[in-house]
Amino acid sequence: MAPTPPEHELPQYELYAIRYATRPARRSEHFIGGDPHEAPMPMDYFVWAAVGAGRSVVIDTGFTEEMAQKRKRTFLRCPVESLGLVGLDPAAVETVVLTHLHYDHVGNFHRFPRAEFHIQEAEVHFATGRYMRYPQMSHAYEADEVCGVVRLNFQQRVRMYAGPVELAPGITLHPTGGHTAGLQFVRVHTKRGWVVLASDAAHFYENMDADRPFTTAFHVGQMHEAFDALRAAAPSRDHIVPGHDPRVMELYPAPSPELRGAVVRLDVAPRS
Ligand SMILES: [Zn+2]
Repeated sequence: MAPTPPEHELPQYELYAIRYATRPARRSEHFIGGDPHEAPMPMDYFVWAAVGAGRSVVIDTGFTEEMAQKRKRTFLRCPVESLGLVGLDPAAVETVVLTHLHYDHVGNFHRFPRAEFHIQEAEVHFATGRYMRYPQMSHAYEADEVCGVVRLNFQQRVRMYAGPVELAPGITLHPTGGHTAGLQFVRVHTKRGWVVLASDAAHFYENMDADRPFTTAFHVGQMHEAFDALRAAAPSRDHIVPGHDPRVMELYPAPSPELRGAVVRLDVAPRS
């Protein structure tokens, strides 16, 4: 990756998290080795958008209502249509980052007719490779969606990377592996400095804070290293945004009162 210019020269993006689904769950589902406190620990589902400097970048595309039914998730709103809540027209979006190819991150790729998709090559290898014969490795992938990304590549609409990359000034992609073989997290420059969208490098704050990896795992050692990589990429812990934690909706402000519960701004400091 080219050296990053000094911070004052970087654009400052508005950064949004859109909560599109949720599910009830228990603590033991979220930590390798289980958890002695068998208490509820619900999981939220998000997509993210960075807007500024004349560009709009969508980070992950969520799943469809049909997939929510199939996988028994509570669908709150269409993640693609919800981009309109932050002023984006999905038909006009040109840049989509896919942190990985799990069903809850890639499900609506067909709803972005103009977009180019940015992903780590290791993730495509993993999702089309030898480990997918094992349900433990493949259960969070949908074969049709993986094939859809392969087709997009034949249409010159996929950019694959073999390492960290500067996607645009103030937006960088960082492969970590661990949860999947080719997971990447995203760092976005905002008015409060660099904000790190962990995606599934940290599902919950607690995974990261307690160094206790989530149960869906390809390489547990890399999951521990991913926590370190998140911390190294962020100015503080409060600049790291976990990928599935309902706390995000409590800590960050909605852009306007009517969007409460649906959208929060991550470029504004969280409640302490
Ligand atoms: Zn996920």
